[in-house]
Amino acid sequence: MRPPKNKWIRKVLRPFVLKVKTVKLISVVPEYGRTVSYTFTKPRGYKFTAGQYLHLVAPGEDIDRKTVRHMSIATSPLEEGLLISMDLSSESPYKQKFEELSMGGKVKIFSLSGLFTLADLPAGTPLVFIAGGIGITPIRSLIKDIELRGLDHPWTLVHVASKGFLYEKTLSELEGEQHRIGRSEIESTLDACLQPEKGPAVFISGSESFIESLKSLVVQRGIPESRIRLENFDH
Ligand SMILES: Cc1cc2nc3c(=O)[nH]c(=O)nc-3n(C[C@H](O)[C@H](O)[C@H](O)COP(=O)(O)OP(=O)(O)OC[C@H]3O[C@@H](n4cnc5c(N)ncnc54)[C@H](O)[C@@H]3O)c2cc1C
Repeated sequence: MRPPKNKWIRKVLRPFVLKVKTVKLISVVPEYGRTVSYTFTKPRGYKFTAGQYLHLVAPGEDIDRKTVRHMSIATSPLEEGLLISMDLSSESPYKQKFEELSMGGKVKIFSLSGLFTLADLPAGTPLVFIAGGIGITPIRSLIKDIELRGLDHPWTLVHVASKGFLYEKTLSELEGEQHRIGRSEIESTLDACLQPEKGPAVFISGSESFIESLKSLVVQRGIPESRIRLENFDH
């Protein structure tokens, strides 16, 4: 075991090493079921790429393996604030801390990461976004980024969910083709949406079981694996 002095020094230095920032809660929107959207202030000069995720510390807690979760930023960099939506139904100690968080409450964030972005996609590439439930969060960021920057990417959204369709109102105001479906409609919707001859890039986000099964259905329909980007919420 390391001597306590080292532990103490590491604890003091950690926020500087990790570039920890404190953000304030400015909006809470109950969505369907136990899913809630939180908007936090964006730190001055904070730079991220649409589709990335950050590390979010449970309110009032120190950084520890038990108190930090990965959370996708659902806003595009051009929007105000950092939108984070989460399903509280697990009632884990982490989620309970968010349930108790009140307006103006502060939380810590650090370490942006993720390759679920539009990087290296030539203009004109058609995009097919496939989200399983809460997996829509990084896809909202990507779609809003395309719209706000006027990027040349025709897009289609397939959102598969059983309880409710997060961001339905915001996204349905946009131009892309959109399908909000249950599991039984997945195969027929993919048959209708995927056109391998047009060279689309396919983005799939959600639980590990969801992305693995959807990836295999997409590959079966003639899209090469190299054209598929995955965001695994269970990794
Ligand atoms: C890239 C990415 C983006 C994500 N984006 C979102 C999002 O936008 N919205 C959303 O709701 N969820 C998102 N998630 C999932 C999120 O990080 C949580 O895993 C999920 O919300 C479940 O958390 P929980 O506290 O309810 O469940 P728990 O089962 O309590 O915890 C989930 C995970 O946290 C870790 N953990 C928990 N307790 C401990 C412990 N004692 N010691 C060590 N590790 C522990 C483990 O890895 C565990 O599998 C994302 C995940 C990834 C990887």
